[in-house]
Amino acid sequence: MGDYLTPAELPHPKLKRTNTGFTPNQIIALDAAIPEAAKKTWNKYSLLKPLGGRNHNEEEPGVFNAEEKFEEYFVRHVETTLARNMYNCDTLAAYQATSNTIRDGLLVDWANTQQKQTIHDGKRVYYLSLEFLMGRALDNALINLNARNNTTTSLEHLGFNLEDVLDQEPDAALGNGGLGRLAACFVDSLSSRNYSGWGYGLNYQYGIFKQKIIDGYQVETPDYWLKYSNPWEIDRNEIQIPVDFYGYVYENYDTNTGEAKKVWAGGERVLAVAADFPIPGYNTSTTNNLRLWNARPTTEFDFGKFNAGDYQQSVAAQQRAESITSVLYPNDNFESGKELRLKQQYFWVAASLHDIIRRFKKTHKSNWDKFADQVAIQLNDTHPTLAIVELQRVFVDVEGLDWDKAWSIVRKVFAYTNHTVMTEALEKWPVTVLSRLLPRHMEIIYDINFFFLKDVERKFPHERDILSRVSVIEESEPKQVRMAYLAIIGSHKVNGVAELHSELIKTTIFKDFVRVFGPDKFTNVTNGITPRRWLRQANPKLAALIAEALNDPNYEYLTNLGMLKKLEPLVDDDTFLKKWDAIKFDNKRRLAGLIKSETGIEVDPSVMFDVQVKRIHEYKRQQLNIFAVIYRYLHIKKLIREGKSVDDIKKNYYIPKCSIFGGKAAPGYYMAKTIIHLINEVASVVNHDTEIENLLKVVFIPDYNVSKAEVITPASDLSNHISTAGTEASGTSNMKFALNGGLIIGTVDGANVEITREIGEENIFLFGNLAESVDELRHKHVYEGVKVPESLQEVFSAIESGLFGNADEFKSLVESIKYHGDYYLVTDDFDLFLEAHRKLEKVYGHDGSGHLHNWVKKSLLNVAQYGLFQF
Ligand SMILES: *Cc1c(COP(=O)(O)O)cnc(C)c1O
Repeated sequence: MGDYLTPAELPHPKLKRTNTGFTPNQIIALDAAIPEAAKKTWNKYSLLKPLGGRNHNEEEPGVFNAEEKFEEYFVRHVETTLARNMYNCDTLAAYQATSNTIRDGLLVDWANTQQKQTIHDGKRVYYLSLEFLMGRALDNALINLNARNNTTTSLEHLGFNLEDVLDQEPDAALGNGGLGRLAACFVDSLSSRNYSGWGYGLNYQYGIFKQKIIDGYQVETPDYWLKYSNPWEIDRNEIQIPVDFYGYVYENYDTNTGEAKKVWAGGERVLAVAADFPIPGYNTSTTNNLRLWNARPTTEFDFGKFNAGDYQQSVAAQQRAESITSVLYPNDNFESGKELRLKQQYFWVAASLHDIIRRFKKTHKSNWDKFADQVAIQLNDTHPTLAIVELQRVFVDVEGLDWDKAWSIVRKVFAYTNHTVMTEALEKWPVTVLSRLLPRHMEIIYDINFFFLKDVERKFPHERDILSRVSVIEESEPKQVRMAYLAIIGSHKVNGVAELHSELIKTTIFKDFVRVFGPDKFTNVTNGITPRRWLRQANPKLAALIAEALNDPNYEYLTNLGMLKKLEPLVDDDTFLKKWDAIKFDNKRRLAGLIKSETGIEVDPSVMFDVQVKRIHEYKRQQLNIFAVIYRYLHIKKLIREGKSVDDIKKNYYIPKCSIFGGKAAPGYYMAKTIIHLINEVASVVNHDTEIENLLKVVFIPDYNVSKAEVITPASDLSNHISTAGTEASGTSNMKFALNGGLIIGTVDGANVEITREIGEENIFLFGNLAESVDELRHKHVYEGVKVPESLQEVFSAIESGLFGNADEFKSLVESIKYHGDYYLVTDDFDLFLEAHRKLEKVYGHDGSGHLHNWVKKSLLNVAQYGLFQF
């Protein structure tokens, strides 16, 4: 726009277009300053009008509700953006052209949203998460933009099928499991509910590894997901933020004031370059931003090295910079403690804070008293805890605020979400590592701790012990920084992710902090899932049936799940129940197709689908599930040996079922990999046993990811959420399954508790020891030995006999239970698990007669009463 105006014409002498955007006043001033004729020309060609995004009130239809516009833009993208034509536009190219076309409209909404938010100048919420497990973007955009039908028709006109086109998109798999998926659901909800909220993360070149199953073992291969250009990523190469590492700290005396100032100098510099992902809301034009950082070398050249003739090494050092964002650490609920991981964390929080502070200063200059009114930062787990230290550093060292004032602002800005009570997952960094990488931050951490401990001492003058218990520094060898403690001290709120979990953190790992800060600092925010993706996108037929039943043609219920309650009376409507059941059957057929193409195994969609998909972890207890499957198999074989027919068994003992597993194990987690191996070995024995007919099948679906979850979730009759009580903070797939009318078998853990309260105890199958008994049982295992129940001993004997291949391979798994304390209480819960299964099979009905009136009714009630988990 500068082209239209000479400096003299500018209404404000300092008005200058920069790539950092405008202030609200500048926008108003600029609009007034652009000549009417110029505005006309712009408006004639601006995408804002003809494409319209979701300006539903515009007279001219937008690209999303005008097939012709879509087709015009599609062909243009094929011919120019992709440099192809009608004759060589394959399905991948069609995916790219479709995405680019939809993106064009999205960007208009996105720009409008950002401008509106700037003018409004309200509080902004920033969600800092090291993981965003987004999955695919195109289908989600089509749904949220209400453009799916038109796009289907347009693609048909152009000779393509939408489903095939959607299938071309690689998953954005920048996360491990629940924590990363939660972040993805959050940004969807921020837009759908019209919040001014951004996500900040890292743009890993390699997301979570791809899992292959070879000879029954997990094999990891890299996920280079950016093989083709990513149409959903907008490179902001102009947004470059320098981030420093290493170096040293010295003191500088201000000759005027005589005050000492700390200066962090030297070291290594890396640039953080922004990549933006627009996040469309559902039924609203609000489109927020997910900003992910890329690490790039600085263009400042190291002349010292160059002059010393060390050109090669100088270039190599620059290349190393990019490695910071090259790969996601593949651990779920386990800390690896690698220095590169710490580097990732600081790189990300330093760049994000710099960006946030810059945005604040644009309108509020150095009016720091307003900072906490304008900025809220949510920490997803302890991974971004260094943001607390970095903000304090910027305030004190760079902006010159005094310590106390800076600290009072910092504590108002941050809030921390805890995701686990398991000690192996609590983040700690050796003081030596932190001091070397971030020398000034280590000093600040010591200062924060010093002032904090002084307060604690004042509060509890007669308790010497409490100081070492709550200290940020663990006096171990080597000394470690306890990140969770730092996160609590630097935040104004701390939340767990389900009621039970939020209570547990107050009575276990953080109990001293409840005494120090009082109980009000600790709150609960139960996780949720976005029903846009997890119902409408994953299960379009069920979503449509519900919309019809609610007389809600615009699917308003997807942002108001309380409306689902109106489905309740339909439990007495047999016609409706049959429709409901037919959709489940269709979804099971779709999953059977996926299973066939992924594993070659044919499964009968008329049998019960019993699913457990999630990261493989001892605490999630896939071992408990597979042991129960083995028990079932052994028992069926025994009955056959005793002369019972398969029909007999179906009628009186076991309904036919298919046990479906999926999930990745961390590459270094031996026990989890052993569990995967056992599942596959059991599958190969059971699936080849013709004697048992369709009574039992076992399937391990490789490479569980978001796209596969979208096929698996709607197809489940029963899903397993059977963690050792007190270990699963919330779980989110329990919610996905319930919302899709899948019944749950689960322990009294995480959000299962609240789900039960909503849907009723009679509509879920709970079993197992309670969280309050866990400590005592573990103690007993150690001091009195583990008692393996007879049922489980049969299973162990079968494994040890070599029935499922080389028994040595499963020795450590079996021994961890028999001889090493059975930490996850498999022996205590095994018979209770079997009993729960017997109960639920009765409900399902051995002859199928109870199916419609027992099982399908419960399925409907799961959905009707789900409304609690608004997202
Ligand atoms: C929802 C989801 C998870 C989380 O599952 P939990 O059972 O809550 O642990 C993990 N991975 C993927 C791909 C998911 O979609």
